[in-house]
Amino acid sequence: MTQTRDDLSASQTEVPTSPVATSAVATSAVPTPPILAVARDQVLECGEGLNREQTLEVLRLGDEHLDELLALAHEVRMRWCGPEVEVEGIISLKTGGCPEDCHFCSQSGLFQSPVRAAWLDIPSLVEAAKQTAKTGATEFCIVAAVRGPDERLMAQVAAGVEAIRNEVDIQVACSLGMLSQEQVDQLAAMGVHRYNHNLETARSFFPHVVTTHSWEERWETLSMVRDAGMEVCCGGILGMGETLEQRAEFAANLAELEPDEVPLNFLNPRPGTPFGELEVMPAADALRAVAAFRLALPRTMLRFAGGREITLGDLGAERGILGGINAVIVGNYLTTLGRPAEQDVDLLGELRMPIKALNETL
Ligand code: SF4
Repeated sequence: MTQTRDDLSASQTEVPTSPVATSAVATSAVPTPPILAVARDQVLECGEGLNREQTLEVLRLGDEHLDELLALAHEVRMRWCGPEVEVEGIISLKTGGCPEDCHFCSQSGLFQSPVRAAWLDIPSLVEAAKQTAKTGATEFCIVAAVRGPDERLMAQVAAGVEAIRNEVDIQVACSLGMLSQEQVDQLAAMGVHRYNHNLETARSFFPHVVTTHSWEERWETLSMVRDAGMEVCCGGILGMGETLEQRAEFAANLAELEPDEVPLNFLNPRPGTPFGELEVMPAADALRAVAAFRLALPRTMLRFAGGREITLGDLGAERGILGGINAVIVGNYLTTLGRPAEQDVDLLGELRMPIKALNETL
């Protein structure tokens, strides 16, 4: 049976002992590497995130230190964020046919891709918000595959946000690409409380991923969103061919931005895209990266987003949630199928992790 948010909140007063932590004790014959001792003092005790060089040291740790690293990341998350997990659903208002050339994306109209351009109507949007709210999710993100919104899209979003706010008890977020100041102000006035715009990767690697716009243009939108008082959601995709140095650079870029939420995706190579032939990131590397980002961003909501099933398999969700993650996306990931919402919600129940309640996000 699927546990609801209320079931979980009512039954959860104790925080579980992490199986990861237990296995770290079991492997205590492996001496603690100096960087993890530093992280224990600096991040766990003082709440000060690792800098770029320190994050790189963590990313270079061997597999024999992975359990200890995940256990520390879990402790950091529990200390600085608490046991709650935020659940979010996403819906695509406008799918496919995007004029940009993000090399990982099957929604670009520039690549041969099976994703067809399509629009969702407002009643379907409201129904999706209702279904999302039933899973216990507090956040519903409206996504459109565009460079930035035009007048038609802004009008659709305004109508959709109003309809959802009238009928569904859920926070509305948007992800509509790059914005003008006027559009930022319009979204804030609609009551959109969080805006997602991913930097996708390190500044130095971005030109290898996107050529139709710049990293700096994305940064500019994020700055305007923050200044308008909306929550900033900004993450990216790991495993696109970036070096470990660039992975650490990306964590430092995000730490500088100080987003409220960082969604972490792992590349799921889509046929027809320029990155369609890349290899899936090894599971150990993905888990190491999750933990490293947690140590660089101790207070930020770190969300498992797309690609985790193919990268981590069934056990990945549990290890990630006990290794630094404190937010998940339920259901579909726009162009690829995720796990059924109930599986994730059930897992949180099994791990005795309470789902963040709506009133705490208002
Ligand atoms: S990631 Fe966004 S901007 Fe880039 S091609 Fe895909 S939909 Fe367009």
